[in-house]
Amino acid sequence: MSKFRVDPGLVLEKEIDLKAIEAIKMIQWHPITLKYWALGGSSGWLGTNTTSITRCPDGVGEFQHYVNGSIYYHPSIGAYEVHGLIRARWSSLGWERSFLGYPKTDETRTPDGIGRYNHFQGGSIYWSPSTGAWEVHGAIRGKYSSLGWERSFLGYPLTNESTCPDGVGRYNHFQGGSIYWSPSTGAHEVHGLIRSHWASLGWERSFLGYPISDELVVFGGAGRISNFQHGSIYWSSTAGVKVLRERVRVHVKILETPTTFTINEQFAAMQEVYAVAGIRVDCASTENLNLPSLNDVDVGGCTMGSVTSEQTTLFGNRNFVGTNDVVVYYVRSTVPGYNGCAAHPSGRPGCVVVRSASRWTLGHEFGHVLGIHHVSDNNRLMTGGGTFNITNPPPDLTTGEGTTMRNSNLTIPL
Ligand SMILES: [Zn+2]
Repeated sequence: MSKFRVDPGLVLEKEIDLKAIEAIKMIQWHPITLKYWALGGSSGWLGTNTTSITRCPDGVGEFQHYVNGSIYYHPSIGAYEVHGLIRARWSSLGWERSFLGYPKTDETRTPDGIGRYNHFQGGSIYWSPSTGAWEVHGAIRGKYSSLGWERSFLGYPLTNESTCPDGVGRYNHFQGGSIYWSPSTGAHEVHGLIRSHWASLGWERSFLGYPISDELVVFGGAGRISNFQHGSIYWSSTAGVKVLRERVRVHVKILETPTTFTINEQFAAMQEVYAVAGIRVDCASTENLNLPSLNDVDVGGCTMGSVTSEQTTLFGNRNFVGTNDVVVYYVRSTVPGYNGCAAHPSGRPGCVVVRSASRWTLGHEFGHVLGIHHVSDNNRLMTGGGTFNITNPPPDLTTGEGTTMRNSNLTIPL
């Protein structure tokens, strides 16, 4: 039996004097009754009751159904109404005995002013006129929330959380993309042309596996990238969509901060070109070095396989740098003066780039480090005519150059 008093169905229609009101206040009305009254009682939108207040099948809470909805009460949560298509969705999942549990809110207008939602103990149901009502819960709901719910680029859900065809992970599709989750990768969004390309490869059952990042802006913003378990998908307006299956790990050592193009811009430019070869450029660490005596570094003839004592000293600074990682040292100038120089001591792969270098110098010098050589064509990254003179940005990498770079032991399969 309920410990609460239930609406006798008459009180509101009577003229009540102040003493009666005080008397009513002393009565501990059933929370379902109080909620029903707050929503207008039998003359409100819920309409008249179609059941009495009834113990839920789970034995914990109570409910009352009405013509146009229900009020559910849980002793540690309170009483909230559910109605319409959100109620229908909750019902289809198994009411309070589903993973959603009891409602924690009434049906509420979404901040975008278009849709409606109820939050429940174990998740939420979102509805909009064009999408219908679907549940989101768990880590996928957490990601949806962190992105800004329906006001994010994702918009409203188009599915319940569903099991992936591989039987391992889970997903919700949304108007503007998807959130995929698996036990080992967590929940990440994927959207736009990157999502379309992943879908065309076979979603999580493709060689890429599950996303391990949201879609990220690449360094200086030239492109976008989503990282997956076994590769990345890159997009830029000039490169289009490219699958990246190898990576080069770059460590940045700064003696002198670049002045003409920021480090981010140089990385973005490098990634844009390297994407054509299917190579992802990872900036693994950044460190400032106080080495004034090497700030105008003697590079001799800048010949691969031949280094000066200053280069040997400079390239000895390898904090954080793992085997097969590469390093760029940003300096004020080289002696003699170049934009950069890729000559490096054996076993210490890397290059020097001067502060006034072009946007393409970083990618050009690492091209040398990865085994490709000068050409006389100012449309190409490896032009010997100076990367400031590149005529058709982003400059080209040929198929053969890409193969050589991927065959380097400094590019690692993802
Ligand atoms: Zn060169």
